[in-house]
Amino acid sequence: METEKICSSCGVRLGKNDGMTFFKCPECGVVEIGRCPNCRDQSVTYTCTKCGFTGP
Ligand SMILES: [Zn+2]
Ligand SMILES: [Zn+2]
Repeated sequence: METEKICSSCGVRLGKNDGMTFFKCPECGVVEIGRCPNCRDQSVTYTCTKCGFTGP
């Protein structure tokens, strides 16, 4: 069973083949950051919920 992923920038729910990207927070390496194609295109920043790291 898959957990539901959301975009860390806009909070939209992401499906499997939506072109979303997931990566661990480069600062703490704990929180998984998700990005939808929309936010990726527009370089919307995300904020880590654990360490507060903000990145493009
Ligand atoms: Zn988004
Ligand atoms: Zn972090």
